[in-house]
Amino acid sequence: MSKAVYKIVPLRLGEAEVGKVLDAFWSLTKSSGPITVPILAFLVLGGPHPILVDAGMRSAERAMSVHRLGPHRVPIGQSLPEALALHGLKPADIGTCILTHLHYDHAGGCEALPNARFIVQRSELAAAAAPMGPKILEFGSRELFYDRLDVAALVHTLWDQVDLIEGDEEILEGIDCVLYANTHTPGSQAVYVRTAQGVVAIVGDIVRKVDANIDTGIPAGLFYDLESMMRAMKDIKKRADIIWPTHDPVVLEPIREDDFLPLRSFKT
Ligand SMILES: [Zn+2]
Repeated sequence: MSKAVYKIVPLRLGEAEVGKVLDAFWSLTKSSGPITVPILAFLVLGGPHPILVDAGMRSAERAMSVHRLGPHRVPIGQSLPEALALHGLKPADIGTCILTHLHYDHAGGCEALPNARFIVQRSELAAAAAPMGPKILEFGSRELFYDRLDVAALVHTLWDQVDLIEGDEEILEGIDCVLYANTHTPGSQAVYVRTAQGVVAIVGDIVRKVDANIDTGIPAGLFYDLESMMRAMKDIKKRADIIWPTHDPVVLEPIREDDFLPLRSFKT
């Protein structure tokens, strides 16, 4: 029997202005200042139903007013329904939504998906509900980037659609979740998807920039445990042919005819 192979399409669900220093541990980067980054989700096609990895933010206004973060925008055509419509899909068509983690820019769109099962690590939901640290950070963001409304939806209105997993789990043949505990968040997971171009790792924010983090071995600036982060990057590099972070604009360049956009291959 031939192995299942999937196609992955990045969806642009708005953008945010953030400091470049977020890309590197201890700001070990030559570049400083703000940068506009996309907020991506990934559509995985080829299974019994369309799968979405991450779901974007609840609203740009909320990111700025409640979380007190810098400019956020959802330009016309980049709302979740509009982005899905570009590929002939409606929110109701999404049967599974895998959440790499529950930060506001990844788990905000869950309530727009009426028929999805939500796959999230139990440790991540617990951490989002009862986050460590102060409720408001001086430089912005409440609750270490978790949104109480997203947590409330997952533990109440969407609760019957939530599938908690603990550790590594095969979702479908060729689609695997791997837990990287205490990396970008306590329960961050990467989703490894088999494609015709190789294994794609959808890594959430464990990696922000493949060149700055994976190539140089300097982890991104926002993490819980440095050793866990270093081990995760090593493991991702070993397992993946292509690594797709959530906020690296390079994922959206250059548009190839086959509509597949590999970022970087390590096994050439
Ligand atoms: Zn993010």
